[in-house]
Amino acid sequence: MALKTERSQHLYQQALDVIVGGVNSPSRSFRAVGGETPIFMKKAQGAYFWDEDNNRYIDYLAAFGPIILGHAHPEVTQAIQDTAANGVLYGTPTEKEVQFAKMLRQAIPSMEQIRFVNSGTEAVMTTIRLARAYTGRDKILKFAGCYHGHSDLVLVAAGSGPSTLGIPDSAGIPVSIADQVITVPYNDLDALKEALHHWGDQIAGVLVEPLVGNFGIVPPQPDFLAQVNQLSHDAGALVIYDEVITAFRFHYGAIQTYYHVEPDLTALGKIIGGGLPIGAYGGRREIMDKVAPMGPMYQAGTMAGNPLSISAGIACIAALSKPGVYEELEQKASTLVQAIEKLAEQYNITLTINQMKGAFSVYFSDEKVIDYEGAKRASSEQFAQFFRYMLAEGVYLAPSKYEAWFLTTAHQEVDIQFTIQAVEKAFQKMAE
Ligand code: PLP
Repeated sequence: MALKTERSQHLYQQALDVIVGGVNSPSRSFRAVGGETPIFMKKAQGAYFWDEDNNRYIDYLAAFGPIILGHAHPEVTQAIQDTAANGVLYGTPTEKEVQFAKMLRQAIPSMEQIRFVNSGTEAVMTTIRLARAYTGRDKILKFAGCYHGHSDLVLVAAGSGPSTLGIPDSAGIPVSIADQVITVPYNDLDALKEALHHWGDQIAGVLVEPLVGNFGIVPPQPDFLAQVNQLSHDAGALVIYDEVITAFRFHYGAIQTYYHVEPDLTALGKIIGGGLPIGAYGGRREIMDKVAPMGPMYQAGTMAGNPLSISAGIACIAALSKPGVYEELEQKASTLVQAIEKLAEQYNITLTINQMKGAFSVYFSDEKVIDYEGAKRASSEQFAQFFRYMLAEGVYLAPSKYEAWFLTTAHQEVDIQFTIQAVEKAFQKMAE
């Protein structure tokens, strides 16, 4: 079935003229899946969205994570509408910010004090500055392939070898900044020990996605997080969890409350805004006391804690607190995963799936993926093929082999069955 995309193509040509690359975030481009025109959406409801050519898709992108309740969820929409009617930005404190901070702290107790910002990037960037302010050290250790937004320090990934001093992944990052970043492979405690042995007394913070969402879904090996804590603290470094993807994704709380390990600082984003722009960071009171106006570390924001994002966040988190929500998400994901594995066997397609509750990633690979190198080895060509066949069948996956499938509360059994049929058609064609 060929997809009709005339209007998307037309809009893309216009977009290329006025918007760099035609997209407002590179991850929306289709370059990684064959370089075709990205699909322009015009409307979304529940588990579906519709493009400018009126094609309907079942959405497993969930806007790269935030849309866990599906699109235009009535309670979130109502909260946004009610709030907008009373003005969208005051530049003053509001009661709802306090209410929301209390909700978050109750769910994630290590965040004794919280500050709202506007994005995950800002949240992580500020935790790094805070770790430096608190420890008086400059270096940061991060794990290869983990994405922490686009601030200078974290756009340094890995080279090969067990531990690597920073090589910028982006033009425009001074070498003097990249030099402050040490990268080691995820789930590799020996590499972590080696890096801490070399640079431990200069490291302000060890930054980690406690469960990776950025080279697919990759859980920590048993004891990995406990050891990260122990080894980092022994070296006098703070532990920073980037829970921008993971908070409220797998249970009501964060990965730290799921695995019962506590970082010193946490960064949040995505789901906690109910689809509106948001970020938040927080941690132990004595560390947060360094933040202005209490302390010497400056961080501010005209839009921070804006009433719309806060109201949408409260409505979203409240909906997620209802019994059975996460069990249902997991059950839907498991049905899909089992069906995909069975069909792969039937059509002789080699793949491996990492699932955590209501999220999973499909790697076209014959090995279990536990780190970035493993994820990189998965076939990009097969993923691109699969992506395009699924799109043509009306199933929208993230346009990258490194992204996850996210289930939402809006996906129904009929959508899951439709998706399984689409997978079968895609595998049939791939096997030809
Ligand atoms: N941290 C993680 C783990 C992320 O996945 C992302 C975005 O994908 C970010 C930080 C950056 O968040 P934002 O895109 O809201 O700036």
